[in-house]
Amino acid sequence: MTSQHAIHARWAPSQTETAPPDPLLSTLHRLRVLLGVESASLTRVDADRLRVLAAAGATDLLTDLQPLQLQTLRHTGPLIIADTTSLDAAAPVARFYAGLILPAGDPGAPLLLSLVDRQPRSPAMAYRLAALAIDVTSAATIARQARQITVLRSEQEQEREMFNLASQTARIGVWACDLADNSLTWTDSVYDLFELPRGAPLERAATVECYTAASRIAMEAARAKAIAECSDFCVDAEIITAKGTRRWMRLTGSVEAHDGVARRIFGMKQDITEEKLLADRTRYLAETDVMTGLANRSQFQNQLADLSGVTHGAPVTSLLLIDLDGFKQINDTHGHAVGDDCLKEAAARLVACCQGAALVARIGGDEFAVLPAGDHGVADLDALGQCIVHAVGGPYLRNGQTITLSASVGVALNTGGSPEDLFRKADIALYAAKAAGRNTMRRHAD
Ligand code: GH3
Ligand code: MG
Repeated sequence: MTSQHAIHARWAPSQTETAPPDPLLSTLHRLRVLLGVESASLTRVDADRLRVLAAAGATDLLTDLQPLQLQTLRHTGPLIIADTTSLDAAAPVARFYAGLILPAGDPGAPLLLSLVDRQPRSPAMAYRLAALAIDVTSAATIARQARQITVLRSEQEQEREMFNLASQTARIGVWACDLADNSLTWTDSVYDLFELPRGAPLERAATVECYTAASRIAMEAARAKAIAECSDFCVDAEIITAKGTRRWMRLTGSVEAHDGVARRIFGMKQDITEEKLLADRTRYLAETDVMTGLANRSQFQNQLADLSGVTHGAPVTSLLLIDLDGFKQINDTHGHAVGDDCLKEAAARLVACCQGAALVARIGGDEFAVLPAGDHGVADLDALGQCIVHAVGGPYLRNGQTITLSASVGVALNTGGSPEDLFRKADIALYAAKAAGRNTMRRHAD
């Protein structure tokens, strides 16, 4: 039997030996038994003093270890002394000492594991024992770290789940595109938005195809500008999903750059279909004459006020005002409902002969306005006026009854005055047409 076996046999727990109840003490005890040493202690440096956290085995062996323990801490590495009688200084009771700084310790207050035995070890045995101790304590650390990571992961998973739930409720998803290869990453909500199976492989070219033509142009322009300037962008874009559903989304993007070079672009995609439809509907109602579907007086006034076309893109060059003739009589003869139908019919006829106009509006009971697009000479405007008189006028067949509609038209050119001037001139011309017997047009003289 070698001395190693003899030591191990001597310090192996007996059948009746029970582990102490303190978990730390219990661990130290198991470690002592595993490594075959008589005593094991765990020490921490507190305010430059060594404080024993736990000690297992024969405590008399631990009493005069302080110089060795402080030396271990100073070196911040394992200190292994196979036989303490080889020390220059006074040897402790223990003949074998191994001091290990535990990797689990707080760097500010390291934990020191001391393993001692009344019997010396051979140098090879001492190092093997220390190596085994390091292995065991590292494995324990790894196990603890693994447990911490598991807890962290489950916390992250919970957070991710909460984020997913919140983003699904808000219909917001996160997207990212690696600019090196245009590879895309989407969260579940973006897949849902595009009605694609979650986690399906993504090709940028294919997803860009989902955008309607106008939205694709707007999105690509905003994206290219953001990449060129390493800045952010936000566009509202319309898509047709994989299942053919039309949707509006608000797309935001931020460029991540390194050394001034754009590397990644990422942001949010939010389904704004409902908001967009509501906003469109609200704007439609605010700007439209519901009965005829034409622009209403409010929209007409806005566009007329923008004489130079700053907001509406084209200047107002002329104005035609149209008023139905003897419309009160139609109402009185056929009833208000028939009068309404006549107004709708008149509106449709007006639109038909004003194709390409900047605006056709119903601005009052039986009063309409047309803002022609482009620069027209007086001959063109007169022709348009005549066309309207003929188109709106004429028989209207309803429920077997023939109703004759007729309209008067006043034309005015924008000769540099205010919007009110232009309206007043067209109104004067309209009054002149009425005065001339109705069913005709007149143009303001200047
Ligand atoms: P004039 O030739 O001088 O224009 O005679 P008019 O009878 O057409 O008289 P005016 O243009 O002054 O009156 C317009 C009439 O249009 C007044 C009103 O009874 C009618 N009206 C206004 N709004 C509506 C509407 O929404 N529906 C119907 N059915 N009639 C309307
Ligand atoms: Mg009228």
